[in-house]
Amino acid sequence: MSPPTFRLYNTLTHETEPVEPIEEEHLRFYSCGPTVYTYAHIGNFRSFITADLIRRTAEAIGWDVTNVSNITDVGHLTQDDLVDPGGADKMQQALEREGERFANINDLARHYTEAFLDDWRALNLREPEVRPRATEHVTDQLHAVIELVEKGHAYTTDQGVYFSVESFDDYGHLSGNTEAQQLQATDRDVVEDPDKRDPRDFALWKHDPDHLMHWHSPWGWGYPGWHIECSVMGMRYLGDRFDLHTGGEDLIFPHHECEIAQNQSLAGHKVINYWVHTRFLQVEGEKMSKSKGNFYTVRDLINPGPDDDHVPDPIRAQGGVDPLALRYTLLQGQYRKPFNFTLDTLRTAARHVQRFQEASDRVDEAMEADVDGPDPIGPQLGDIYDRMLEAMCDDLNTPAATAAALEGVKTIEQADSLSSAAAHSARHWLDRTNDLLGIVEPEHDADASSASSGNDALSGDHIADSVDELLDEREAARSDGEYARADAIRDTLEALGIEVMDTPEGTEWRHKTDL
Ligand code: AMP
Ligand code: ZN
Repeated sequence: MSPPTFRLYNTLTHETEPVEPIEEEHLRFYSCGPTVYTYAHIGNFRSFITADLIRRTAEAIGWDVTNVSNITDVGHLTQDDLVDPGGADKMQQALEREGERFANINDLARHYTEAFLDDWRALNLREPEVRPRATEHVTDQLHAVIELVEKGHAYTTDQGVYFSVESFDDYGHLSGNTEAQQLQATDRDVVEDPDKRDPRDFALWKHDPDHLMHWHSPWGWGYPGWHIECSVMGMRYLGDRFDLHTGGEDLIFPHHECEIAQNQSLAGHKVINYWVHTRFLQVEGEKMSKSKGNFYTVRDLINPGPDDDHVPDPIRAQGGVDPLALRYTLLQGQYRKPFNFTLDTLRTAARHVQRFQEASDRVDEAMEADVDGPDPIGPQLGDIYDRMLEAMCDDLNTPAATAAALEGVKTIEQADSLSSAAAHSARHWLDRTNDLLGIVEPEHDADASSASSGNDALSGDHIADSVDELLDEREAARSDGEYARADAIRDTLEALGIEVMDTPEGTEWRHKTDL
Protein backbone atom coordinates (compact mmCIF):
# COMPACT_ATOMS: atom_id res chain seq x y z
CA MET A 1 0.00 0.00 0.00
CA SER A 2 1.38 3.42 -0.85
CA PRO A 3 1.73 5.74 2.17
CA PRO A 4 -0.88 8.44 2.77
CA THR A 5 -0.25 11.98 1.55
CA PHE A 6 1.40 14.09 4.25
CA ARG A 7 -0.61 17.27 4.73
CA LEU A 8 0.13 20.22 6.98
CA TYR A 9 -1.51 23.57 7.58
CA ASN A 10 0.55 26.33 6.04
CA THR A 11 0.28 29.68 7.84
CA LEU A 12 1.43 31.39 4.63
CA THR A 13 -1.51 30.17 2.51
CA HIS A 14 -4.07 29.50 5.30
CA GLU A 15 -4.60 26.05 3.82
CA THR A 16 -3.88 22.48 4.75
CA GLU A 17 -1.66 21.41 1.87
CA PRO A 18 0.15 18.30 0.71
CA VAL A 19 3.81 18.69 1.68
CA GLU A 20 5.87 18.48 -1.49
CA PRO A 21 9.58 18.58 -0.72
CA ILE A 22 11.83 20.41 -3.17
CA GLU A 23 14.16 17.41 -3.24
CA GLU A 24 12.13 14.30 -3.85
CA GLU A 25 11.36 12.42 -0.62
CA HIS A 26 13.73 14.59 1.39
CA LEU A 27 12.19 17.04 3.82
CA ARG A 28 14.50 19.88 4.80
CA PHE A 29 13.29 22.17 7.56
CA TYR A 30 14.31 24.70 10.18
CA SER A 31 12.92 24.96 13.71
CA CYS A 32 13.26 27.96 15.99
CA GLY A 33 14.88 26.62 19.14
CA PRO A 34 15.00 27.85 22.72
CA THR A 35 16.52 30.97 24.19
CA VAL A 36 18.82 29.46 26.79
CA TYR A 37 18.38 31.92 29.64
CA THR A 38 16.26 29.65 31.83
CA TYR A 39 14.81 26.12 31.94
CA ALA A 40 12.40 25.27 29.12
CA HIS A 41 8.74 25.04 30.10
CA ILE A 42 6.15 22.55 28.92
CA GLY A 43 4.70 25.08 26.45
CA ASN A 44 8.09 25.41 24.73
CA PHE A 45 8.14 21.66 24.36
CA ARG A 46 4.67 21.62 22.82
CA SER A 47 6.30 23.53 19.93
CA PHE A 48 9.45 21.41 19.79
CA ILE A 49 7.38 18.21 19.80
CA THR A 50 5.49 19.47 16.74
CA ALA A 51 8.81 19.62 14.87
CA ASP A 52 9.73 16.16 16.18
CA LEU A 53 6.40 14.76 14.94
CA ILE A 54 6.91 16.31 11.51
CA ARG A 55 10.24 14.49 11.35
CA ARG A 56 8.80 11.19 12.58
CA THR A 57 5.85 11.31 10.19
CA ALA A 58 8.11 12.13 7.23
CA GLU A 59 10.42 9.26 8.19
CA ALA A 60 7.44 6.91 8.58
CA ILE A 61 6.40 7.53 4.98
CA GLY A 62 9.95 6.79 3.85
CA TRP A 63 11.42 10.27 3.43
CA ASP A 64 14.84 11.47 4.47
CA VAL A 65 14.85 14.41 6.85
CA THR A 66 17.32 17.21 7.44
CA ASN A 67 16.33 19.40 10.36
CA VAL A 68 18.20 22.43 11.68
CA SER A 69 17.15 23.46 15.17
CA ASN A 70 19.02 26.37 16.67
CA ILE A 71 20.01 27.53 20.13
CA THR A 72 19.44 31.24 20.72
CA ASP A 73 22.17 32.44 23.03
CA VAL A 74 22.28 36.12 22.12
CA GLY A 75 20.06 38.88 20.83
CA HIS A 76 16.63 37.85 22.11
CA LEU A 77 15.28 40.88 23.94
CA THR A 78 12.60 40.93 26.61
CA GLN A 79 10.24 42.81 24.29
CA ASP A 80 10.81 40.86 21.14
CA ASP A 81 7.13 40.73 20.36
CA LEU A 82 7.53 44.36 19.30
CA VAL A 83 8.50 45.38 15.81
CA ASP A 84 11.57 47.14 17.06
CA PRO A 85 12.24 45.28 20.26
CA GLY A 86 13.15 47.00 23.44
CA GLY A 87 14.09 45.96 26.93
CA ALA A 88 17.12 44.00 27.98
CA ASP A 89 18.78 41.02 26.36
CA LYS A 90 17.21 37.96 27.98
CA MET A 91 20.59 36.29 28.52
CA GLN A 92 22.18 39.38 30.02
CA GLN A 93 19.20 39.98 32.27
CA ALA A 94 19.33 36.37 33.51
CA LEU A 95 22.97 36.77 34.43
CA GLU A 96 22.20 39.94 36.36
CA ARG A 97 19.47 38.02 38.23
CA GLU A 98 21.39 34.81 38.81
CA GLY A 99 24.91 36.15 38.69
CA GLU A 100 26.07 34.26 41.76
CA ARG A 101 25.37 30.89 40.19
CA PHE A 102 27.41 31.47 37.06
CA ALA A 103 30.94 32.58 36.37
CA ASN A 104 29.90 34.53 33.28
CA ILE A 105 27.36 34.61 30.47
CA ASN A 106 28.93 31.67 28.62
CA ASP A 107 28.65 29.61 31.76
CA LEU A 108 24.97 30.50 32.05
CA ALA A 109 24.34 29.65 28.38
CA ARG A 110 26.16 26.33 28.74
CA HIS A 111 24.19 25.39 31.84
CA TYR A 112 20.77 26.07 30.31
CA THR A 113 21.72 24.53 26.96
CA GLU A 114 22.72 21.30 28.68
CA ALA A 115 19.54 21.32 30.78
CA PHE A 116 17.52 21.88 27.62
CA LEU A 117 19.21 18.97 25.82
CA ASP A 118 18.56 16.72 28.82
CA ASP A 119 14.85 17.61 28.68
CA TRP A 120 14.87 17.09 24.93
CA ARG A 121 16.21 13.56 25.28
CA ALA A 122 13.99 12.73 28.26
CA LEU A 123 10.93 13.64 26.20
CA ASN A 124 12.10 11.37 23.36
CA LEU A 125 12.70 14.04 20.75
CA ARG A 126 15.00 12.97 17.93
CA GLU A 127 18.22 14.86 17.37
CA PRO A 128 18.26 17.45 14.62
CA GLU A 129 20.95 16.97 11.99
CA VAL A 130 22.36 20.40 12.88
CA ARG A 131 21.98 22.31 16.12
CA PRO A 132 23.72 25.64 15.50
CA ARG A 133 24.23 28.29 18.13
CA ALA A 134 23.63 31.94 17.31
CA THR A 135 26.89 33.02 18.94
CA GLU A 136 28.84 30.68 16.69
CA HIS A 137 27.40 32.31 13.59
CA VAL A 138 27.84 36.01 14.28
CA THR A 139 30.29 36.36 11.42
CA ASP A 140 27.73 34.91 9.02
CA GLN A 141 25.16 37.29 10.44
CA LEU A 142 27.47 40.24 9.89
CA HIS A 143 28.02 39.18 6.30
CA ALA A 144 24.26 39.01 5.80
CA VAL A 145 23.74 42.46 7.29
CA ILE A 146 26.46 43.89 5.07
CA GLU A 147 24.82 42.27 2.05
CA LEU A 148 21.43 43.70 3.00
CA VAL A 149 22.96 47.17 3.24
CA GLU A 150 24.69 46.64 -0.07
CA LYS A 151 21.44 45.58 -1.72
CA GLY A 152 19.65 48.65 -0.41
CA HIS A 153 17.46 46.73 2.06
CA ALA A 154 19.15 48.10 5.17
CA TYR A 155 20.74 51.29 6.49
CA THR A 156 22.78 52.41 9.45
CA THR A 157 22.17 54.94 12.20
CA ASP A 158 24.24 55.77 15.26
CA GLN A 159 22.35 53.11 17.20
CA GLY A 160 22.55 50.25 14.76
CA VAL A 161 21.61 48.82 11.39
CA TYR A 162 17.96 48.51 10.38
CA PHE A 163 16.08 46.55 7.79
CA SER A 164 14.04 48.90 5.67
CA VAL A 165 10.52 47.45 5.59
CA GLU A 166 9.57 49.74 2.73
CA SER A 167 12.16 47.98 0.56
CA PHE A 168 10.30 44.67 0.79
CA ASP A 169 6.83 44.64 -0.76
CA ASP A 170 5.63 41.39 0.76
CA TYR A 171 6.06 42.47 4.40
CA GLY A 172 2.92 41.49 6.34
CA HIS A 173 1.98 38.58 4.09
CA LEU A 174 2.67 35.81 6.63
CA SER A 175 0.99 37.42 9.63
CA GLY A 176 -1.68 39.18 7.62
CA ASN A 177 -0.84 42.28 9.62
CA THR A 178 -1.75 45.48 7.90
CA GLU A 179 0.53 48.46 8.03
CA ALA A 180 -1.49 49.88 10.91
CA GLN A 181 -1.05 46.69 12.94
CA GLN A 182 2.64 46.62 12.17
CA LEU A 183 2.84 50.14 13.54
CA GLN A 184 0.63 49.46 16.53
CA ALA A 185 3.18 47.09 17.91
CA THR A 186 5.64 49.96 18.15
CA ASP A 187 3.34 52.05 20.30
CA ARG A 188 4.42 50.53 23.55
CA ASP A 189 7.21 51.74 25.69
CA VAL A 190 10.19 51.26 23.39
CA VAL A 191 13.28 53.38 23.18
CA GLU A 192 12.91 54.80 19.71
CA ASP A 193 15.83 55.55 17.50
CA PRO A 194 15.11 59.04 16.11
CA ASP A 195 17.10 58.22 13.00
CA LYS A 196 14.96 55.26 11.99
CA ARG A 197 13.40 55.99 8.61
CA ASP A 198 10.17 54.12 9.25
CA PRO A 199 8.82 53.01 12.65
CA ARG A 200 8.26 49.52 11.21
CA ASP A 201 11.96 49.03 10.44
CA PHE A 202 13.59 46.41 12.64
CA ALA A 203 17.10 46.06 13.97
CA LEU A 204 19.64 43.81 12.28
CA TRP A 205 22.51 44.96 14.41
CA LYS A 206 22.58 46.90 17.68
CA HIS A 207 25.43 49.17 18.47
CA ASP A 208 26.31 48.54 22.14
CA PRO A 209 29.88 48.30 23.32
CA ASP A 210 28.64 47.69 26.89
CA HIS A 211 26.63 44.61 26.07
CA LEU A 212 28.08 41.58 27.85
CA MET A 213 28.39 39.71 24.56
CA HIS A 214 29.65 42.01 21.88
CA TRP A 215 31.37 41.54 18.57
CA HIS A 216 33.41 43.80 16.41
CA SER A 217 31.65 45.05 13.33
CA PRO A 218 32.10 47.75 10.70
CA TRP A 219 29.86 49.86 12.97
CA GLY A 220 31.88 49.31 16.12
CA TRP A 221 31.12 46.92 18.97
CA GLY A 222 27.64 45.47 19.21
CA TYR A 223 25.48 42.42 18.73
CA PRO A 224 23.05 41.05 16.17
CA GLY A 225 19.28 41.42 16.27
CA TRP A 226 17.38 38.22 17.01
CA HIS A 227 15.64 37.76 13.65
CA ILE A 228 18.77 37.67 11.52
CA GLU A 229 20.20 34.60 13.27
CA CYS A 230 17.46 32.27 12.04
CA SER A 231 17.61 33.55 8.45
CA VAL A 232 21.34 33.07 8.38
CA MET A 233 21.57 29.67 10.07
CA GLY A 234 18.66 28.33 8.04
CA MET A 235 20.18 29.33 4.72
CA ARG A 236 23.68 28.31 5.73
CA TYR A 237 22.68 24.72 6.43
CA LEU A 238 19.67 24.26 4.16
CA GLY A 239 20.48 26.52 1.23
CA ASP A 240 18.43 29.34 -0.22
CA ARG A 241 15.43 27.14 -1.04
CA PHE A 242 14.11 24.77 1.56
CA ASP A 243 10.80 23.26 2.51
CA LEU A 244 9.49 24.22 5.86
CA HIS A 245 9.92 26.26 9.02
CA THR A 246 8.42 25.66 12.49
CA GLY A 247 7.87 27.66 15.68
CA GLY A 248 5.25 28.68 18.21
CA GLU A 249 2.40 30.98 17.20
CA ASP A 250 3.99 33.96 18.96
CA LEU A 251 6.77 33.87 16.38
CA ILE A 252 4.54 34.56 13.38
CA PHE A 253 4.94 38.27 13.99
CA PRO A 254 7.42 39.83 14.11
CA HIS A 255 10.08 37.07 14.14
CA HIS A 256 9.02 35.03 11.11
CA GLU A 257 7.66 38.00 9.19
CA CYS A 258 11.12 39.57 9.56
CA GLU A 259 12.86 36.32 8.66
CA ILE A 260 10.96 36.16 5.38
CA ALA A 261 11.84 39.77 4.61
CA GLN A 262 15.53 39.09 5.27
CA ASN A 263 15.65 35.75 3.45
CA GLN A 264 13.95 36.95 0.31
CA SER A 265 15.94 40.17 0.20
CA LEU A 266 19.16 38.18 0.47
CA ALA A 267 18.22 35.40 -1.95
CA GLY A 268 16.14 37.43 -4.41
CA HIS A 269 13.36 34.82 -4.35
CA LYS A 270 11.08 32.85 -2.05
CA VAL A 271 13.16 30.67 0.26
CA ILE A 272 10.70 28.64 2.38
CA ASN A 273 7.45 27.08 1.16
CA TYR A 274 5.61 25.99 4.32
CA TRP A 275 5.32 27.71 7.70
CA VAL A 276 3.99 25.61 10.57
CA HIS A 277 3.03 27.19 13.89
CA THR A 278 2.03 25.59 17.17
CA ARG A 279 -0.78 27.09 19.20
CA PHE A 280 0.12 28.11 22.73
CA LEU A 281 -0.34 25.65 25.54
CA GLN A 282 -2.56 26.65 28.43
CA VAL A 283 -2.40 25.14 31.89
CA GLU A 284 -5.52 24.47 33.95
CA GLY A 285 -7.46 26.75 31.62
CA GLU A 286 -5.16 29.75 31.87
CA LYS A 287 -2.07 31.25 30.32
CA MET A 288 0.93 29.79 32.11
CA SER A 289 2.40 32.24 34.54
CA LYS A 290 4.57 32.08 37.59
CA SER A 291 2.24 34.35 39.54
CA LYS A 292 -0.71 32.02 38.96
CA GLY A 293 1.31 29.03 40.17
CA ASN A 294 0.54 27.12 36.95
CA PHE A 295 3.94 27.50 35.34
CA TYR A 296 5.79 24.22 34.88
CA THR A 297 9.20 23.60 33.47
CA VAL A 298 9.82 20.12 32.11
CA ARG A 299 12.09 19.33 35.03
CA ASP A 300 9.47 20.52 37.56
CA LEU A 301 7.33 17.60 36.45
CA ILE A 302 9.86 14.89 35.66
CA ASN A 303 12.46 15.61 38.29
CA PRO A 304 11.12 18.04 40.93
CA GLY A 305 13.40 19.25 43.68
CA PRO A 306 12.26 19.19 47.31
CA ASP A 307 11.83 22.98 47.25
CA ASP A 308 9.68 23.11 44.11
CA ASP A 309 6.57 23.69 46.18
CA HIS A 310 4.42 24.79 43.24
CA VAL A 311 4.63 21.18 42.03
CA PRO A 312 1.72 19.19 43.51
CA ASP A 313 2.67 16.94 46.44
CA PRO A 314 1.82 13.60 44.80
CA ILE A 315 4.17 14.36 41.90
CA ARG A 316 6.93 15.47 44.23
CA ALA A 317 6.39 12.49 46.52
CA GLN A 318 6.91 10.04 43.66
CA GLY A 319 10.01 11.91 42.43
CA GLY A 320 8.32 13.21 39.29
CA VAL A 321 6.33 11.64 36.45
CA ASP A 322 7.60 9.42 33.66
CA PRO A 323 8.79 11.84 30.94
CA LEU A 324 6.93 9.76 28.37
CA ALA A 325 3.70 10.47 30.26
CA LEU A 326 4.42 14.17 29.82
CA ARG A 327 5.07 13.62 26.12
CA TYR A 328 1.88 11.56 25.83
CA THR A 329 -0.11 14.34 27.51
CA LEU A 330 1.23 16.93 25.08
CA LEU A 331 0.09 14.67 22.22
CA GLN A 332 -3.49 14.78 23.47
CA GLY A 333 -4.10 18.04 21.62
CA GLN A 334 -3.51 18.59 17.90
CA TYR A 335 -0.74 21.19 17.62
CA ARG A 336 -2.95 23.76 15.92
CA LYS A 337 -5.81 23.66 18.39
CA PRO A 338 -5.87 25.27 21.82
CA PHE A 339 -4.77 22.70 24.36
CA ASN A 340 -5.39 22.78 28.05
CA PHE A 341 -2.79 20.90 30.06
CA THR A 342 -4.11 19.62 33.39
CA LEU A 343 -2.59 17.46 36.07
CA ASP A 344 -5.55 15.11 35.61
CA THR A 345 -4.60 14.55 31.97
CA LEU A 346 -1.04 13.92 33.08
CA ARG A 347 -2.19 11.26 35.57
CA THR A 348 -4.31 9.52 32.93
CA ALA A 349 -1.39 9.68 30.49
CA ALA A 350 0.90 8.05 33.06
CA ARG A 351 -1.50 5.09 33.28
CA HIS A 352 -1.63 4.75 29.49
CA VAL A 353 2.11 4.92 29.10
CA GLN A 354 2.44 2.23 31.74
CA ARG A 355 0.13 0.02 29.66
CA PHE A 356 2.44 0.38 26.68
CA GLN A 357 5.41 -0.57 28.81
CA GLU A 358 3.66 -3.59 30.34
CA ALA A 359 2.53 -4.75 26.90
CA SER A 360 6.08 -4.38 25.66
CA ASP A 361 7.44 -6.48 28.57
CA ARG A 362 4.82 -9.15 27.98
CA VAL A 363 5.69 -9.29 24.29
CA ASP A 364 9.40 -9.64 25.06
CA GLU A 365 8.67 -12.53 27.40
CA ALA A 366 6.49 -14.22 24.77
CA MET A 367 9.25 -13.85 22.19
CA GLU A 368 11.65 -15.51 24.59
CA ALA A 369 9.17 -18.32 25.35
CA ASP A 370 8.95 -18.94 21.59
CA VAL A 371 5.68 -20.92 21.55
CA ASP A 372 4.26 -22.15 18.24
CA GLY A 373 0.77 -21.05 17.32
CA PRO A 374 -1.36 -18.75 15.15
CA ASP A 375 -1.13 -14.96 14.91
CA PRO A 376 -4.66 -13.62 15.27
CA ILE A 377 -3.56 -10.06 16.15
CA GLY A 378 -1.07 -9.29 13.36
CA PRO A 379 -3.57 -8.12 10.72
CA GLN A 380 -5.51 -6.07 13.26
CA LEU A 381 -2.34 -4.33 14.48
CA GLY A 382 -1.40 -3.66 10.85
CA ASP A 383 -4.73 -1.90 10.28
CA ILE A 384 -4.34 0.08 13.47
CA TYR A 385 -0.88 1.26 12.42
CA ASP A 386 -2.24 2.36 9.04
CA ARG A 387 -4.86 4.43 10.83
CA MET A 388 -2.25 5.97 13.11
CA LEU A 389 -0.10 6.95 10.14
CA GLU A 390 -3.10 8.33 8.31
CA ALA A 391 -3.97 10.45 11.34
CA MET A 392 -0.42 11.80 11.58
CA CYS A 393 -0.36 12.59 7.86
CA ASP A 394 -3.61 14.48 8.36
CA ASP A 395 -2.00 17.63 9.80
CA LEU A 396 -0.52 15.73 12.76
CA ASN A 397 -3.79 14.58 14.25
CA THR A 398 -2.18 13.28 17.44
CA PRO A 399 -5.41 12.74 19.43
CA ALA A 400 -6.65 10.34 16.72
CA ALA A 401 -3.23 8.68 16.42
CA THR A 402 -2.87 8.09 20.17
CA ALA A 403 -6.48 6.86 20.41
CA ALA A 404 -5.69 4.27 17.72
CA ALA A 405 -2.46 3.38 19.53
CA LEU A 406 -4.48 2.64 22.66
CA GLU A 407 -6.66 0.26 20.63
CA GLY A 408 -3.46 -1.51 19.62
CA VAL A 409 -2.32 -1.89 23.19
CA LYS A 410 -5.73 -3.20 24.15
CA THR A 411 -5.48 -5.76 21.34
CA ILE A 412 -2.21 -7.02 22.79
CA GLU A 413 -3.57 -6.99 26.36
CA GLN A 414 -6.65 -8.97 25.36
CA ALA A 415 -4.82 -11.70 23.47
CA ASP A 416 -5.15 -14.80 25.70
CA SER A 417 -1.72 -16.11 24.93
CA LEU A 418 0.94 -14.83 22.61
CA SER A 419 2.46 -17.29 20.20
CA SER A 420 5.90 -16.49 18.85
CA ALA A 421 4.31 -15.24 15.60
CA ALA A 422 1.83 -13.02 17.48
CA ALA A 423 4.61 -11.71 19.71
CA HIS A 424 6.67 -10.81 16.65
CA SER A 425 3.72 -8.93 15.14
CA ALA A 426 3.16 -7.14 18.43
CA ARG A 427 6.86 -6.24 18.73
CA HIS A 428 6.85 -4.91 15.18
CA TRP A 429 3.77 -2.81 15.95
CA LEU A 430 5.17 -1.47 19.22
CA ASP A 431 8.45 -0.52 17.54
CA ARG A 432 6.68 1.24 14.68
CA THR A 433 4.39 2.99 17.16
CA ASN A 434 7.42 4.21 19.06
CA ASP A 435 9.06 5.36 15.84
CA LEU A 436 5.97 7.35 14.90
CA LEU A 437 4.90 8.76 18.25
CA GLY A 438 7.77 8.14 20.70
CA ILE A 439 5.49 7.07 23.53
CA VAL A 440 6.41 3.42 24.13
CA GLU A 441 9.97 3.54 25.37
CA PRO A 442 12.89 5.94 25.70
CA GLU A 443 15.01 6.23 22.57
CA HIS A 444 17.95 7.90 24.22
CA ASP A 445 20.40 6.35 26.58
CA ALA A 446 19.44 7.63 30.03
CA ASP A 447 23.12 8.22 30.82
CA ALA A 448 23.76 10.14 27.62
CA SER A 449 26.12 12.95 28.43
CA SER A 450 24.92 16.49 28.16
CA ALA A 451 27.68 17.27 25.73
CA SER A 452 26.07 19.39 23.08
CA SER A 453 25.95 18.44 19.43
CA GLY A 454 26.62 21.97 18.21
CA ASN A 455 28.95 22.87 15.44
CA ASP A 456 32.43 24.08 15.82
CA ALA A 457 32.58 27.66 16.78
CA LEU A 458 33.61 30.00 14.07
CA SER A 459 36.70 31.45 15.52
CA GLY A 460 37.15 35.13 16.01
CA ASP A 461 35.63 37.88 14.04
CA HIS A 462 36.04 37.81 10.28
CA ILE A 463 34.53 41.14 9.49
CA ALA A 464 37.77 42.31 7.92
CA ASP A 465 37.46 39.45 5.43
CA SER A 466 34.15 40.72 4.13
CA VAL A 467 35.43 44.28 3.83
CA ASP A 468 38.40 42.89 1.91
CA GLU A 469 36.05 40.92 -0.32
CA LEU A 470 34.08 44.05 -1.13
CA LEU A 471 37.29 45.94 -1.83
CA ASP A 472 38.45 43.16 -4.16
CA GLU A 473 35.13 43.42 -5.99
CA ARG A 474 35.57 47.18 -6.23
CA GLU A 475 39.08 46.73 -7.59
CA ALA A 476 37.83 44.24 -10.19
CA ALA A 477 35.02 46.64 -11.18
CA ARG A 478 37.52 49.46 -11.60
CA SER A 479 39.88 47.45 -13.73
CA ASP A 480 36.91 46.38 -15.90
CA GLY A 481 36.04 50.06 -16.34
CA GLU A 482 32.77 49.62 -14.39
CA TYR A 483 33.20 52.82 -12.42
CA ALA A 484 29.56 53.17 -11.42
CA ARG A 485 29.67 49.73 -9.81
CA ALA A 486 32.98 50.55 -8.11
CA ASP A 487 31.46 53.74 -6.70
CA ALA A 488 28.40 51.84 -5.51
CA ILE A 489 30.61 49.44 -3.55
CA ARG A 490 32.43 52.38 -2.04
CA ASP A 491 29.07 53.90 -1.04
CA THR A 492 28.05 50.64 0.56
CA LEU A 493 31.21 50.56 2.60
CA GLU A 494 30.66 54.20 3.56
CA ALA A 495 27.12 53.32 4.67
CA LEU A 496 28.64 50.58 6.79
CA GLY A 497 30.90 53.09 8.50
CA ILE A 498 34.02 52.06 6.58
CA GLU A 499 36.25 54.73 5.10
CA VAL A 500 38.08 53.68 1.94
CA MET A 501 41.35 55.41 1.13
CA ASP A 502 43.13 55.04 -2.21
CA THR A 503 46.83 55.54 -1.56
CA PRO A 504 49.86 55.15 -3.88
CA GLU A 505 50.53 51.85 -2.06
CA GLY A 506 47.02 50.56 -2.77
CA THR A 507 43.61 50.76 -1.16
CA GLU A 508 43.36 50.98 2.60
CA TRP A 509 40.34 51.16 4.88
CA ARG A 510 39.49 52.00 8.44
CA HIS A 511 36.46 52.17 10.69
CA LYS A 512 35.10 55.70 10.90
CA THR A 513 34.78 55.15 14.64
CA ASP A 514 38.58 54.69 14.79
CA LEU A 515 39.12 58.24 13.56
P1 AMP B 1 11.80 30.83 23.49
O1 AMP B 1 12.68 29.99 24.37
O2 AMP B 1 11.03 31.88 24.21
O3 AMP B 1 12.59 31.39 22.32
O4 AMP B 1 10.68 29.86 22.88
C1 AMP B 1 10.97 28.62 22.29
C2 AMP B 1 9.78 28.11 21.51
O5 AMP B 1 8.66 27.84 22.37
C3 AMP B 1 9.26 29.09 20.47
O6 AMP B 1 8.94 28.38 19.28
C4 AMP B 1 7.99 29.65 21.11
O7 AMP B 1 7.08 30.08 20.14
C5 AMP B 1 7.47 28.42 21.84
N1 AMP B 1 6.54 28.70 22.97
C6 AMP B 1 6.69 29.58 23.99
N2 AMP B 1 5.65 29.52 24.86
C7 AMP B 1 4.81 28.56 24.39
C8 AMP B 1 3.55 28.01 24.83
N3 AMP B 1 2.94 28.41 25.96
N4 AMP B 1 2.98 27.03 24.06
C9 AMP B 1 3.58 26.60 22.92
N5 AMP B 1 4.76 27.07 22.46
C10 AMP B 1 5.38 28.03 23.17
ZN1 ZN C 1 13.92 31.79 15.09
